[in-house]
This record gives sequence, structure tokens and C-alpha cells, in this order.
Amino acid sequence: MSEAYKIIDHTYDAVVVGAGGSGLRATMGIAETGLKTACITKVFPTRSHTVAAQGGIAASLGNNSPDHWTWHMFDTVKGSDWLGDQDAIEYMVREAPAAVYELEHAGVPFSRNENGTIYQRPFGGHMQNMGEGPPVQRTAAAADRTGHAMLHALYQQSLKYDADFYIEYFALDLIMEDGVCRGVIALCMDDGSIHRFRAHNVVLATGGYGRTYYSATSAHTCTGDGNAMVLRAGLPLQDMEFVQFHPTGIYGAGVLITEGARGEGGYLTNSEGERFMERYAPSAKDLASRDVVSRSMALEMREGRGVGKNGDHIWLHLDHIDPKVLAERLPGITETGKIFAGVDLTRQPLPVTPTVHYNMGGIPTNYHGEVVHLKDGNPDAVVPGLFAVGEAACVSVHGANRLGSNSLIDLVVFGRATGLRIKDTLKPNTPHQPLPKGSEELSLARLDRFRNATGTIPTAEIRVEMQRTMQKNCAVFRDNELLTEGVAQIKATYAKLADVAVKDRSLIWNTDLVETLELDNLLAQAMVTMQSAENRKESRGAHVNEDHPDRDDANWMKHTTATFTGWGGVGGKVEIGYRPVHDYTLTEEAEYIKPKKRVY
Ligand SMILES: Cc1cc2nc3c(=O)[nH]c(=O)nc-3n(C[C@H](O)[C@H](O)[C@H](O)COP(=O)(O)OP(=O)(O)OC[C@H]3O[C@@H](n4cnc5c(N)ncnc54)[C@H](O)[C@@H]3O)c2cc1C
Repeated sequence: MSEAYKIIDHTYDAVVVGAGGSGLRATMGIAETGLKTACITKVFPTRSHTVAAQGGIAASLGNNSPDHWTWHMFDTVKGSDWLGDQDAIEYMVREAPAAVYELEHAGVPFSRNENGTIYQRPFGGHMQNMGEGPPVQRTAAAADRTGHAMLHALYQQSLKYDADFYIEYFALDLIMEDGVCRGVIALCMDDGSIHRFRAHNVVLATGGYGRTYYSATSAHTCTGDGNAMVLRAGLPLQDMEFVQFHPTGIYGAGVLITEGARGEGGYLTNSEGERFMERYAPSAKDLASRDVVSRSMALEMREGRGVGKNGDHIWLHLDHIDPKVLAERLPGITETGKIFAGVDLTRQPLPVTPTVHYNMGGIPTNYHGEVVHLKDGNPDAVVPGLFAVGEAACVSVHGANRLGSNSLIDLVVFGRATGLRIKDTLKPNTPHQPLPKGSEELSLARLDRFRNATGTIPTAEIRVEMQRTMQKNCAVFRDNELLTEGVAQIKATYAKLADVAVKDRSLIWNTDLVETLELDNLLAQAMVTMQSAENRKESRGAHVNEDHPDRDDANWMKHTTATFTGWGGVGGKVEIGYRPVHDYTLTEEAEYIKPKKRVY
């Protein structure tokens, strides 16, 4: 090591990494029990990507149309294309209404109905009567700024408890000992000090990794750092081939237009002015699930019916909706349309195209948030001391495709579940073992290597090459050739990391260094995603391989797991395994939903 780093030690019962919706809910729940809790976050809590969520949060409140949790369960299982674990899905949909009322009481200013109840809008794939339809109004919203309202309310609430916040601290790696998580190491970006957190429990709430792609609705900070920390700990990630494209990213800018726009009556047209979704999804139409709408748009463009000079986008119409309704229910996107597309959407259609939006895959957990892996023949063996929640986790409630508004509910339901589990399993004042010798070495060696990297290729150049490969070879439509080529290209890009150039050697707000650490994390996930996609020879949910166009339940109704070795651009080996899908429910009150063909 070129220099001794200053290490500051801390001891907590639990450390949460991440202060988005899931991390804050977990922090609150743990701190509430009186356990000594810390929350580490690389951005100020209210800047987490959750702040950008627009459309809303799903729960069967039944305020605007009849609804029932079993209907929500059916839709979520069907949306997942039967890759979701039904015990976890049952848990989520049953807890959902209480979780929304909890947010209401925490101060989230939900939009209201005339009679004062929480207003709910329709969202894609959410139906009445066990999928029979018509669409259900299940998505509670605070206009089109639901995530903003939620995150601010949760942050305010979390300050009420005695949790310590470490803000603008960049978590580097887990401290593992004999398969048990013992803590986490973080870099204080402000002064370059290294912080070693010893903890009985670590909760990863680090969000998604949308930034492996060129055009994504997610923030630049969505680099899946927690996922990569898990890979470096030798543990697997799950179902990484399932990447959700949102149908309506603004063409060129990638900025999101919420599905709530279609929930409020918006519709898509092609260059012939045709409402083409009627052909692909005769019953749900523009409110079919996201994978279905994105693919239909891609097909229209491919067959020459895209709009614009290059025929490479689609129109989204809101110009028929009463401007008063737009101002009340969709004020944010009205503004977004003006700024990013130069369009007055009360008069003109918006140019949109499918854009990377959400990662169904992540760190495998059970419905308590405990991280699981295959050990001694048990596919659900718990990794002691380690939890994951939110987009970083793969519970798996979203399976092969997430329904809109099911992520925000996942954050709060499983954030809370994690707190409950820790409360049940950890006694206050449990003594701490000393940390293993050299517990900081892995983190510091990696930090030091990138900080002193003397290669020739700038971080940004490698990053954009990775993003373009993912965008081209691992998109809405995939086939054997594209994926084989993609694997070779992503490996070639990965190898360039060994020759990365970092110019700034300081430890004070070294964004060059932090972006390189993030790139290292992104590249490992890009490798895992591409190779998991290449490996799955079927089409299910968001993963469509045109050489294997059908879902193949006999061979592929199983979760992919993938581990990664050979870091720093040298080696880079992905090893694939599998875990069974939970084909059982949590209680006898829910019936197992048998697989059938997925049509909307
Ligand atoms: C534009 C947009 C709109 C959306 N709209 C909706 C919607 O209407 N409804 C819905 O259900 N879902 C929606 N989603 C999805 C949903 O918002 C996200 O999946 C969810 O907010 C993710 O929350 P999270 O708590 O997992 O992580 P994030 O909110 O992404 O937070 C991640 C946290 O981890 C911290 N972190 C990450 N890495 C490190 C590190 N190395 N060290 C320290 N801290 C770290 C960050 O600082 C941050 O606090 C939307 C997503 C986007 C991008």
C-alpha cells in the first residue's frame, strides 16, 4: 500500500447503506427498537433516486374501484411472468394497504378524492377480478411527485429517532468473516478518512444499476454499489438478465414520463396515427405491462412505423386531456415535457422511446430481507448479518418484470420487514466480537489501486463503451447472435479497466476516483447481466430472446444466480447457477397462482 490511510472505528447494532425509500424505512424501523443504528449514504438522503419516482405506489385500498389483495397478488405474479416468489408476493400485497396508511400518517400529502380518501389511478397490468379486468385504480399518488413526497416524509420521520447519519460517505466493501457479515468499510468523501463500521447487521439499500446502460431514467448515482459489494464477498446476484425498459422515456433525453400519464388516459400512436396498442393488447391496450408495451413500440419502429425523421420514436398523446386535469394530476411531467422535449403537451404529442428504468435482479433475499444463497444443498440458506432491501434486492416479488408502482410499495414493506426481523433476532446490548485482523485490507487495496492507477484510458471512455454495448446487445429484443457478440464485447471493455487512467490522486472530494470505483462496480454487473441473458434460452417477462421466443417453464422456471471473480479488469469470470422459484404461498389464505399464458 502506498500510504497509510487514517481509519476511524465505529460500532453499531445495525448499519444501513443507502438512504432512499427502502434504506430510510429500514433505518427508522431498526432505530425505533432502541438498537444503535447508523445510515451511510453517498448522496444527501433526499437526493436518492427515490425522489424522482412520479406515478405512485400500489395498494389494494379500493378507494376508486373495487379491489382486493388477492387481485393485486394475481397481477404481480402474472406481471412477473411466474418468476416471482409467491410467498414474498403474498407478504407484500397484504402489507401494502397498512404501509400506505403509515406513509399518510407520516405526512405524505397524497392526492385526494372528493370524499377525502386517498386518490388512486390505474397503472399498467393492474386489473380487477383476478386479471379478468377492467383495469383497477390501485396506484396512490401525490400528483406526479410521489417519490419526492415519500422520501421527504421518510427523512423527516427518521430524524425523530436516534439514528446516526453518515452523509456523503461512500461504502467500499463488506467485512466478511467465515461467511458472516461483520460490518462495512466506507470512505468519507469530504476528507478522505476511512471509516470501519463494526455491526451485527448490515442492510444494503443501495438501489439499482441502471447506469450500465446508455439511456436510462435513473440518476447517475444508480451504480449498484451494494450489488457489487456482494459479488466481491463471493456471494451471488440473482436474475440479473431481467432489466426493465419503461415505454415512455423522452426521446433523446431519457427522462421519464410516468406511466400515470397513460393511467390518466394518455395513449401511444405510430407514424400512421394508429393507436397500435389495441392490436397487441386488445384488452389492456396502453395499460398492458411495461415489457409488453415497450416491445410493441420497438416492433412498430422496426416495421417502419416509428415517427420522426429517423422513424426512431413514438408519440405519446395527452393533448386530448382537460388541461385542468393535467395541471392537477400531472404537473411535473407537463414541465418535463417543456424542458426536455420542447413540447407543450396540452397541444402536442410527446416524442418517447423505451428507456432502461428498473432492475428486477439483485441480491437474493427472503421476505424478511435476509440475504440468501445456496449452501449445503439448501437454496434458501441465510447469510448471517446481511440484509438487502429495495431495488438492490431480489426478494423476488417482481420476477421477470415489475409492475409499475410496485417498487415504491416494495421499498416500504420490505424496509419495515427488515426492521422487524432485526428486532426479533438481535437482543439489545449484544456484545461485539473483535473484527478479523486486516478487515480493511480488501477495501483499501482496491481504493489504493484505483487512486494510483497510471493507465491510459479515461474512466468516462470505458464507461460509455460499456453503456453502448449494453444498450445495443442487451436491450428490449435479444437473440443468440446479439448476446454472444455482447458477451465478447463486454469482456473486451471489462479488460480495459486494467488500463484505466485516474488523474486526481487527492482524497478530498476526488470524483475521478469515486467514479472509477463506481465504474468497477458497474462493469461487474454488466458482465453478470450480459452473461445471465446469454445463458437463458427462453423468453420471459423483460428478457426476450427471439431465437427462443416462448416461455419454457419446463426448463427455465428458475432463478438465475451468478457469481463473479477476477476483478480490476483481470480475469472477469461469471459463474452461473440456479435457485428454485418458490411455488408456494405464505399462508393458506392465498392460493398458489398456477402458470398460464400471459396475455393482456
Ligand atoms: C424516474 C423514476 C421514476 C420512478 N417512478 C416510480 C413510481 O412512480 N412508482 C414506483 O413504484 N417505482 C418508481 N420507480 C422505481 C423506484 O423509484 C426505485 O426502484 C426506488 O426508488 C429505489 O429505491 P431504493 O431505496 O432501493 O434506492 P435509491 O432511492 O436509488 O437510493 C439508493 C441509496 O443508496 C445510497 N448508496 C448507493 N451506493 C452507495 C455507496 N457506495 N455508499 C453509500 N451509499 C450508497 C445512495 O446514496 C442512496 O441513498 C421510478 C424510478 C425512476 C428512476
